[in-house]
Amino acid sequence: MNAVDIETIKRAVRQHQDEAVRLLQDLVRIPSVNHPPTGDEKEVQEFYFRHLESMGLECEIFEADDVPAFKEHPGRLKEHDMTNRPDVVGVCKGGGTGRSILLTAHADVELPGDPASWSDNNPFSGAVRAGRVYGRGSGDDKSGMAIAAMTPRILESVGVRLCGDLTIASVSDEEQGGANGTVALLAKGYRPDACINLDGCNQDIYIANLGGGYCNIDIRVASSGFSTEDLLDCFNRFRERIAEFRNIRKTDFGAHPYYGIEPRMSRSVAFAKVSLGVEDLSRGTFTVWFRLLPGEEPEPFQKRFTEFLRGVVDSGDYSLQWMPRFLPSSEIEDGHPFVNCLKDSFTLSTGRAPSVKGAGIDDTGFLNLYGGFPSIGFGPGNLEGEGAIHRADEFVDIEKLMECLETVVFCTMKWCGYERT
Ligand SMILES: [Zn+2]
Repeated sequence: MNAVDIETIKRAVRQHQDEAVRLLQDLVRIPSVNHPPTGDEKEVQEFYFRHLESMGLECEIFEADDVPAFKEHPGRLKEHDMTNRPDVVGVCKGGGTGRSILLTAHADVELPGDPASWSDNNPFSGAVRAGRVYGRGSGDDKSGMAIAAMTPRILESVGVRLCGDLTIASVSDEEQGGANGTVALLAKGYRPDACINLDGCNQDIYIANLGGGYCNIDIRVASSGFSTEDLLDCFNRFRERIAEFRNIRKTDFGAHPYYGIEPRMSRSVAFAKVSLGVEDLSRGTFTVWFRLLPGEEPEPFQKRFTEFLRGVVDSGDYSLQWMPRFLPSSEIEDGHPFVNCLKDSFTLSTGRAPSVKGAGIDDTGFLNLYGGFPSIGFGPGNLEGEGAIHRADEFVDIEKLMECLETVVFCTMKWCGYERT
C-alpha cells in the first residue's frame, strides 16, 4: 500500500468519525438483550439490515430455524429459542481476483442490570461524554457492528474497489453461551478466506480463545427436619473439593503463554447460580462454569472433573448435568499470513506494536472449528476496570473505536487486494 493511499484512508476515517459515532449510538439505543431462552435482537437486526441495504450491499436477513443445516448442527444449543432472532448478512462484491474476508459482530447484549446502577439511570442512553459512547453494548458488541458497517463506507468514499468479497455479518445469540447465530451463519454456508470477529477488547489481537461450559450439580441429603445444616455441610464439601480442582486448573492455565496470568486463571472454574433448600430443605442445586484452554476437548475434561468429585460426600447423593454442548476453544498460529496482515494493519493505523493475546469464551472457536477459515478476535471494548463490558456504565472510547475501524479498513484492503477507481 503506497503512502498516498495510506494518507487518503487515514483522512477518510477521520472525516467519518461523526457518522461512525452516530451509528453506534443508534445501535446502542435499540436494546437487544439476550435473556435465555429468548432474546430481543429482532429490532436492531432489522435496523442494521436496512442500514446495510441503504449502502448498496447485497443483503439478507434470516432466522436460524429457516436454515436446514442448522437443525442438526453439532454447534447448535437447542436450549436457546431462536424465534425472532435473525442474522443479518451484507456482501460487498469484489472484483473476483482477490481473497475474501468476513467481518462479524454480535447483535445481542448482556443483561443491563439495575438501571439505578448506571450513572444516568439509563443502560441504553448511547450518550457521548468525555470522548466516550456509553451504554450496554457500546463495547460489546455494537462497536463491532458499527466498525463492520463503516468499513465499506470508508472504502467507497475514497473510490477503492476490493479484489475479493467483503462480507459483513451481525449474528444473534452470542451471550449466555449461545453462539446459535454464528452457527446459523456457518450452516448457511458462508466460507470466507479469513474472518475478523469484531468482538475483542482492548485493541488486542486475539489469536486464541477459551472454550467452556457449565455443569449443574444437584445435591440431596437425608431429610433433616427443620434445618438446612446437613445440606450446607454437603455443599461445603463440594466447595472445598472444587477449590482443589480450581488450583489444579490454575496450574494448567499457568503453563499457557496467553492465559498464565490472573484474573483468567482464577476464573477457570467459577461458581454461578446457587440455590440451597429453597423448596425442600434437603435439596440444593448449583452451577459451576469451566473454561477450556486451546487444545482441550470437552469430553475428556468432563470425565476428569467427574472422576475428581468421586467420594466427595459420604452421606447424601448428587448428580451432574453438563451443558448440552460446550463452546469450543481454538488457536491460530502466530505468523499465519492473516495474523500478520492484521498486526501490520494495526501498526499502520496506530504507530504502535500490536499486543497478541488470547480471548475469553466467545464465538471465535465455532468459526475456527466449523468454518475452516482463520478467525481472529479484535475490538475496542474495555475488558476490565472502568467502563468494562458486561458491567454498569459500559463505554467505548471513540478514539479506540476509530483506531480499530482504521485497522480493519487497512486489513481488508491488504487481505483482499484493491484498486482505485
Ligand atoms: Zn461480545
